[in-house]
Amino acid sequence: MAARTIDGKAVAAAVRGRVAAGVAEFEAERGRAPTLATVLVGEDPASQIYIRNKHRACEEAGMGSLHHDLPADAGEPEVLELVDRLGGDAEVDGILVQLPLPAGIDPDRVVAAIDPGKDVDGLTPANAGLLAHGMPGLVPCTPAGVMELLRHEAVELEGAEAVVVGRSKLVGIPVARLLLAANATVTVCHSRTRDLDSVCRRADVLVAAVGVPRLLGAAAVKPGAVVIDVGMNRTDGGLCGDVDFGAAAEVAAAITPVPGGVGPMTIAMLLVNTLAAARARV
Ligand code: NAP
Repeated sequence: MAARTIDGKAVAAAVRGRVAAGVAEFEAERGRAPTLATVLVGEDPASQIYIRNKHRACEEAGMGSLHHDLPADAGEPEVLELVDRLGGDAEVDGILVQLPLPAGIDPDRVVAAIDPGKDVDGLTPANAGLLAHGMPGLVPCTPAGVMELLRHEAVELEGAEAVVVGRSKLVGIPVARLLLAANATVTVCHSRTRDLDSVCRRADVLVAAVGVPRLLGAAAVKPGAVVIDVGMNRTDGGLCGDVDFGAAAEVAAAITPVPGGVGPMTIAMLLVNTLAAARARV
């Protein structure tokens, strides 16, 4: 294996340490800790685990956190009313509605109802618009985590060829916008892209956010590229990414593993966003 493995756990731990110091400073100045409020509708076991992990991370960073459970049969008006109430709650700095929502509740409508200043997932149309316009706002956590890994690895983005595979609102598009803002030349691929491997092979920085186990192998990687694998796919053989790690690592200069790459960065950047949201409030 030629490639360096990018240690997302270590980078995330460093970010969380910086956030903890910022939280202590905030608390000393304002007399209260930044606080995240989470909302879970229904009892999806995976979502319950994600929520628990987020609360544990808040606690470790010295942040406050509150949780609201709504039953699976809660109607959209009830969810909207809670989101609205949290928006007006002076104790709450960040609001996170765990997705996916049960059928019958429109996630776009619920996300759009979140106060943009408390939108620590960075998914409201207001924050997406700020990102599209290159203006400061709250950036989605996983894309922000990708950029933090690239910064930590001191990857030169100015003028670099970057290829992002995937164009979701959650990952692909915001990653592409952030890379563009860093002056990379960005290509976005999707399910209709022709000859995916040859487009990917142009990339100095290749970001995979697809959701197809090991879609990208050695033929998709330019020698010396930096490969960031956002994919988290549960297979019979366990968790794996969108990149065939072993094959790609023979060609790349650096690559994130799954698990232990981008995954740990998402919660770390949620803490960063919650602290930033708290600081921005007067
Ligand atoms: P998504 O909304 O399903 O989007 C997938 C994207 O991949 C779409 O744009 C789709 O193209 C494209 N695509 C699908 N099959 C393709 C193919 N064969 N060739 C090229 N492009 C293809 O997924 P997502 O929410 O962005 O998540 C992507 C992956 O990241 C998943 O594995 C997810 O679990 C993982 N994820 C990880 C984290 C983390 O914390 N590490 C966070 C979020 C997501 P079309 O637009 O044409 O359909």
